[in-house]
Amino acid sequence: MNALHGSIDSTGLVSGPPSRLPTAHGLFALRTYTLNGTAHAVMSIGDPAKADAPLIRVHSECLTGDALGSHRCDCGDQLSASLAAIAQAGDGVLIYLRGHEGRGIGLENKLRAYALQDAGLDTVAANRALDLPDDARDYTAAAAILHDLDCPQITLLSSNPSKVTALEDMGITVADRLSLQVPDRPENAGYLEAKRRLMDHIAPAGHSHEDQTETDTECAASTAYAENTLAVYDTIAGGDEVVAQLAQSEDGFIATSKGDAQFVSGQIDRAHLHRIRASVGAVLVGCGTVIADDPRLTVRAVPGVNPVRVVLDPHGRIPATATVLTSPEAPTIWLTGAEIVPPPDIGDHVRMVRLPATTENEISPAAIVSLIRERVSGAILVEGGGRTVSSFLSAGILDRLFLTSAPVLIGNGVPGIRFVGTEVMAEALRRPFRRYRFGEDMCTEYLLSELARDGSARDPDLHPGAASTA
Ligand SMILES: [Zn+2]
Repeated sequence: MNALHGSIDSTGLVSGPPSRLPTAHGLFALRTYTLNGTAHAVMSIGDPAKADAPLIRVHSECLTGDALGSHRCDCGDQLSASLAAIAQAGDGVLIYLRGHEGRGIGLENKLRAYALQDAGLDTVAANRALDLPDDARDYTAAAAILHDLDCPQITLLSSNPSKVTALEDMGITVADRLSLQVPDRPENAGYLEAKRRLMDHIAPAGHSHEDQTETDTECAASTAYAENTLAVYDTIAGGDEVVAQLAQSEDGFIATSKGDAQFVSGQIDRAHLHRIRASVGAVLVGCGTVIADDPRLTVRAVPGVNPVRVVLDPHGRIPATATVLTSPEAPTIWLTGAEIVPPPDIGDHVRMVRLPATTENEISPAAIVSLIRERVSGAILVEGGGRTVSSFLSAGILDRLFLTSAPVLIGNGVPGIRFVGTEVMAEALRRPFRRYRFGEDMCTEYLLSELARDGSARDPDLHPGAASTA
């Protein structure tokens, strides 16, 4: 193919030259592919032909949703989430299929159908009332484009099984299909429900908030999404960083004043937490977290091996009935003071490690990390609570911090990140960071140390985190 002038292939597909397209999600290459007089826009990043099954979104044009900000459908959210996921994956393509407006009936007919829907018909019934097909979209161009890009095997970002069938009928192997984590909006919940009921669309896992429970681990789609977008888990698993994770409300609390923490963040964030647990050798919590939440600290939402549980409990405050002491599903290291007497029936999976006596009030985070490293290899996850994570952060021991902010205001409660800060704004802690949208939550990953920055230097989307000079 001639890089500057484009080309025409045997199917009549004409490709234009690539140009640079900087976007909110990263720098893409944009070119047109024209078939039968319709020019489709193709955005690519990285080297999709080199990937085994690159992340692909085949997006149907929707002027109202994509450009006009309409909440009648979820097209705009899907478009944005697709570009974010593809940029994070590093290699992938978004094929923007023109002429697919209103599932192929065109803008004018789509708005006629909207008027009928306003009068009470669902999306399928409205099309039928206008004597129009439920779905008139044709994916010939998408398949031809994928063949031209040398991507015969793909991972498709879609909730629509008929797209999978259509592409496979034209010689594209869909190795995997991932639903995007786009929450329904009040304005489009009825429309999306109709697509799921009448057109076999698949709801993203965890889109219902009613069935969130700590033991509910059936969030395979959200897990798959995170796996495919966050190379950072491999980086963590391959090294020995000290990583922290905390989910807090927008106003900085991890629980209410009564200690109720169920739940601050959503299912995708919890799948993310389990994925980090599966990537580390040890997971550390303070005794306050064990007393308040009685966590299991195991890997349940994703496949993986349970890390060694480490409880920091200098004064022996955790109850003998705590799950970490009674449940043998993972080894537990109980870091406690020299004078603490263990309960008589303590499980074989528990190993007491005596903390050295200190003249100061608290043992230093660096000393705690050393005690863990002597016994467990791999990365260490500092999981909570707010006090423990904050003390590790302010001691400069953390390599990486995932801080998830949930769109909820608690007002007053158990604080999240708090440390003795700076009086001068210019000296406040800023580090390179990345952001991940986990459904309704926003996770900021701070790369605090050189080790973390070197480990993730090749990843896209890293913001320098320098103070604005404006
Ligand atoms: Zn739409």
